[in-house]
Amino acid sequence: MTEFRRRYSDQNAKIPRQHISRLAFLLAGLLIAVTSVSLLFVGYVASQASRQQAIANEERLFRSALADHLRTIVREQIVIASSDQSVQKLVRNFDPAYVRSSFDTLWSTYSHSKVMLISGEGDVLAESFADYTHVIRRPISETPELEVIHEKMKALYLQNRVRVPGGFGHKSLQGADPGEYAVMGFVHIDGKPAIFGAMPIIPDDYQETLPDGPPTVLLSALYVDSFLLGQLNAQLNFANFGFDAETGTTGSGPHHLVTGLDGDLLGVFRWDSQTIGESLWPTIVPVIVILSLALGALAFGIAWRIGQLTTSLQASEHQNRYLALHDTLTGLANRLQFNRVLESSVKNLPDKPFAVIHCDLDKFKAVNDTFGHAAGDIVIRTMAERLTTAVGKPGLVCRIGGDEFMVIYRGSVTREGLIDLSRALVAAGELPVPISSGEIAQIGLSVGIAIAPKDGSTAELLVTRSDAALYQSKKLGRGRYSFYAESQEMEVGPDGVLTLSSEVRRPRAASGPAE
Ligand code: GH3
Ligand code: MG
Repeated sequence: MTEFRRRYSDQNAKIPRQHISRLAFLLAGLLIAVTSVSLLFVGYVASQASRQQAIANEERLFRSALADHLRTIVREQIVIASSDQSVQKLVRNFDPAYVRSSFDTLWSTYSHSKVMLISGEGDVLAESFADYTHVIRRPISETPELEVIHEKMKALYLQNRVRVPGGFGHKSLQGADPGEYAVMGFVHIDGKPAIFGAMPIIPDDYQETLPDGPPTVLLSALYVDSFLLGQLNAQLNFANFGFDAETGTTGSGPHHLVTGLDGDLLGVFRWDSQTIGESLWPTIVPVIVILSLALGALAFGIAWRIGQLTTSLQASEHQNRYLALHDTLTGLANRLQFNRVLESSVKNLPDKPFAVIHCDLDKFKAVNDTFGHAAGDIVIRTMAERLTTAVGKPGLVCRIGGDEFMVIYRGSVTREGLIDLSRALVAAGELPVPISSGEIAQIGLSVGIAIAPKDGSTAELLVTRSDAALYQSKKLGRGRYSFYAESQEMEVGPDGVLTLSSEVRRPRAASGPAE
């Protein structure tokens, strides 16, 4: 294909279809990226939420274990506190020996590390230090925290106190929750944080009654030490379970802050969450990977299919465009392409002059008649190749029908240049054409030339005038070329038929120009 033809036939062919498949792949990649990031985000949020939930659950478990422990202290106290004998020997007639044996029981049987007896008037009557019981009488005002406990105990006692013959009694403890009759919580005692339970000394058989006034209170405490921590964690099995005294530093892990009844911070229980190691990621990540891969495969599959369709569409479009603009027998530009190129060439006038060269095979019908239509086709194809070679790069050779060819020539459009070219064309037409089985077809070629803008500045005029010049060549005996000349201006005759106005002059030579 010559440069001239390629330039015209490739016009409008540059539709960027390959971008569609590239865009599809890009979108597929983007989709996978967005999905993966979204899934990772969802995974992160879910894992955070589940971690928070797990921590909240562990803290709830711990609070429940702690509350159980406090209730247990009170239930263990009941042996001593709810007894007619205790009312008699601790409230009515204070008996130090009884105090000691009671405290011993709580120490040895229940491991209450600190036991105290507080009178209704607010005096500490006795207190234990491990297995030693010190019977004294000192005001609890020396220990403000005890005063707070005592006040709460008094209020609770008054709610539960009942009048009985000979004094006062207490609502039955049967089925009652320790929280209804006892004060429990944390206290700073002997310089150490401790959990405690405190309850009033009350009768059980009502052989004894209580006097009016505030209650005598039994208080048992367990220091928060490794023994208590072991007991608290026996069921929970928390990792690194511990207690940090007098600190409010909790960190992000599970914990339980502890304050005394007076609101003072005593410390914090903390441990490592069991769920931190059991993160959701091992579950989430494979799901994300599988989903992303599946989506990726689907998206890339679709993108690949789009690419395929685009390519085949492009190929078919390319073929259609080729067929629309080319002659199927010779592969030359067809009439449609000729018209387009001519129109666009005319637009460049007068800056870019060119010539329209009309060629027609001489006596071609005889080839068909003598050798057959297929042989005629061979001749047309051979002539097409020869004309194309003779015209070269500066011209576009078109087959506009039958045995007619048109050349749009942009090379040297001087008279001399066009004479050289026309001679070459006529000579090419005269060369014998081998057909088949040694047979040869010998025809000729007639040429008519119109030069733009000299002979016309419109496509129609140039075609008409090149045709007139060709007609002249035919009329003068074929196998020659003719330039269109003003003197041959066509005019409309009286019968309405186009005729040449002047007498056609004979050519100088057999193949020379007719002017
Ligand atoms: P002239 O010298 O006046 O040009 O006469 P001619 O015999 O060449 O006849 P003309 O140009 O008037 O007609 C061209 C003939 O070419 C008419 C038709 O039978 C034949 N033809 C048209 N298209 C084809 C084709 O594709 N293949 C073949 N083999 N013949 C064709
Ligand atoms: Mg012909």
